[in-house]
Amino acid sequence: MQNAISLSQKQAGPSFSPSYDPWDPISSIRQFGRHRLTSVEMTISNLCNMRCEHCAVGDTLVMTEPDKLPLAKMLSRLDEVEHLQTISITGGEPSFSDKTVKEYLIPLLKYARSRGVRSQINSNVTLDYSRYEAIAPYLDVMHISFNYTEAADFHQVGFAKSGHPVAFETAARMYERMIDNTKRLSAGGLYISAESMINYRTHLKMAEIHRLIVEMGCQRHEVHPMYPSAFAADLPVISKREMRGSIAHLLDHRDPSVWILFGTLPFFHCSEDQEDRKLLARLAGEPNVTVRNDPDGRNRLNVNLFTGEVFVTDFSDIPAFGNIDADRLDHLFDRWLAHPVARGVDCHCPAVNCCGPNLLVKDMYYRDIDFTVRQAIL
Ligand code: SF4
Repeated sequence: MQNAISLSQKQAGPSFSPSYDPWDPISSIRQFGRHRLTSVEMTISNLCNMRCEHCAVGDTLVMTEPDKLPLAKMLSRLDEVEHLQTISITGGEPSFSDKTVKEYLIPLLKYARSRGVRSQINSNVTLDYSRYEAIAPYLDVMHISFNYTEAADFHQVGFAKSGHPVAFETAARMYERMIDNTKRLSAGGLYISAESMINYRTHLKMAEIHRLIVEMGCQRHEVHPMYPSAFAADLPVISKREMRGSIAHLLDHRDPSVWILFGTLPFFHCSEDQEDRKLLARLAGEPNVTVRNDPDGRNRLNVNLFTGEVFVTDFSDIPAFGNIDADRLDHLFDRWLAHPVARGVDCHCPAVNCCGPNLLVKDMYYRDIDFTVRQAIL
């Protein structure tokens, strides 16, 4: 197998581990004593070769896209972010267009490297290997989605919103390429974090999905519940009991040498439901398992590179609250923190390393709960 990535080009600094996750806003709260903008996510593509049934930005996908803002504009706004520690690059499929890879993606990654900032891209890794090979030397985390146990799952999930039938053979070839790309990139030294969603299709299969992720050489397995955004809005929702069951089963059958990072869980230490608190206690005691606080709006903002608009996240219903054309990102972050929606979830219980619920979680499960007056039950 070709080992194409030069490890010597890897970023200096701590390795990612359960005790070093710079995307978790709990680190910036600890460091600065308040929420600070340490992370910027950029949407650089609305193109994608897939149309997944759960796609959180499915409504924004297009067949041809407009020009983006000049790269220099984005770089100068990043330069002004005083405490920048991480960037994330997302789409669509950010690597879909070769031109975007050359003119935006790689220059942004090089900028991050030059500033000691850690980087992540969100990709489906189903395109030609050479595209990822070109990106890998400048990238810290390749974040992929993996919700399958076989090509048939990939076929059903990945093209559900295509609007035209996609042949099983075509999907199966892409599935194989995705697995092969992941194995090759992992073997070459790239840090691959594979995310699976707990939803109506996967909740009974998480242990098998985990096994395949480990087999591909991924260093981290991210597990998030699916929330009803965009394409996912009409999909069946599983109960919290089913979700707890799925997580417990995964913990019972996982490979303990691989870090599992749970995120956007609907369980909190202030919950009156003892089962929720029992699960959190188990998660806290498991080696190589973390529960990440949600970065969106806590230490991160999203910039749409087509319009310059700034959002709390790429898939939020909350309208843009500014534009990089007119404002610095640090100022926009402070504007967001003063927003009534942000204030409604602004709680922090240091004893349990929690800084409040994700906005979709609050909306879905805790609409009438005022988190600002709650406290972890210890
Ligand atoms: S920080 Fe908020 S959500 Fe977390 S345990 Fe405390 S009150 Fe609950």
